Amino acid sequence: IKKIAVLTSGGDAPGMNPCIRAVVRTAIYNGLQVAGIRQGYQGLIDNNMYDMNTRSVSNILNLGGTILKTARCLPFRTDEGMEIAYQNLKASGIDGIVVIGGDGTFTGALRFSRKYPDIAVIGVPGTIDNDLYGSTYTLGFDTATNTVIEAIDKIRDTADAHDRLFFIEVMGRDSGAIALRAGISCGAEAILLPERDTAIDHLIENLKAGQYNKKSSSIVIVAEGDKCGGAYDLAEAVKKQIKFYDIKVTILGHLQRGGSPSAFDRILGSRLGFAAVNAMINGATQMMVGLEANHIKLTSLEEALTQHQFKLEDDLMQMADILSI
Ligand code: ATP
Repeated sequence: IKKIAVLTSGGDAPGMNPCIRAVVRTAIYNGLQVAGIRQGYQGLIDNNMYDMNTRSVSNILNLGGTILKTARCLPFRTDEGMEIAYQNLKASGIDGIVVIGGDGTFTGALRFSRKYPDIAVIGVPGTIDNDLYGSTYTLGFDTATNTVIEAIDKIRDTADAHDRLFFIEVMGRDSGAIALRAGISCGAEAILLPERDTAIDHLIENLKAGQYNKKSSSIVIVAEGDKCGGAYDLAEAVKKQIKFYDIKVTILGHLQRGGSPSAFDRILGSRLGFAAVNAMINGATQMMVGLEANHIKLTSLEEALTQHQFKLEDDLMQMADILSI
């Protein structure tokens, strides 16, 4: 391997920049050349790439988003698109790519690598959703959870002042990982998760019990993937049966993706980027680097994609319910 490339793809996540920095500097330390590809797979097809040096990644550790930009790219799903990408990589003398993204990004990477096995591919789990097999944590999850906590703490202040019940919808796609951890951290009265069913009757009973126990406010966190149909629908249903609280809804939305990465995500991004390049130098391909039990672990992309199911911890769900009484 003489020259590698790095790209970010799918949804952006805080921690991608520290990871890019680690990839670039680890490659250069090992005598490799490194190119940055802009806008994910779209940049591969458009030949939108540039040579990077150690200074290209100065002062980016603290930046949210991704300096390489990211995109969702339909043409990369076609054989023609992949062929163009391959020709562009060959023309630039690139023989390995580090792709930072989620499961869609890995699906594309694996398909590409099977068609063109002479280009090594290593994936880094970068998504706030924390929904990938093979890594206990994904890049961006910790920062996003902290952002959510900060927002909910502020909502709690106003909820408390007015005896209000807030339904707060948080991101995570089909995963309730952010909702669960934010719920524990903010003492939410209830957490609705795609991983389990919560009967509305049961929720209402709990909220009534809270009022009986003299709670001055209630926070219900609703994961966006929950089957209840979203925070607005849920609030409407509850409004019919609860009159003692003024009911409000907040959808936190895209603010959850932004912000300077936490210490955890800076270190995770650095470790995963460093490990990705070292794995590639050692001949690995079609692998994902992850962190399990605080150790770097390589998982084949195929396994990461087929195992897919990411389970929430039962003990955390049970504890959250008990501690919010
Ligand atoms: P996030 O979890 O944050 O959304 P992601 O990586 O899952 O991140 P996607 O939009 O699903 O985000 O995928 C990113 C890109 O990967 C797509 O825009 C597309 O270019 C490529 N991709 C996804 N699936 C395939 C596929 N089956 N074949 C080829 N490329 C794919």
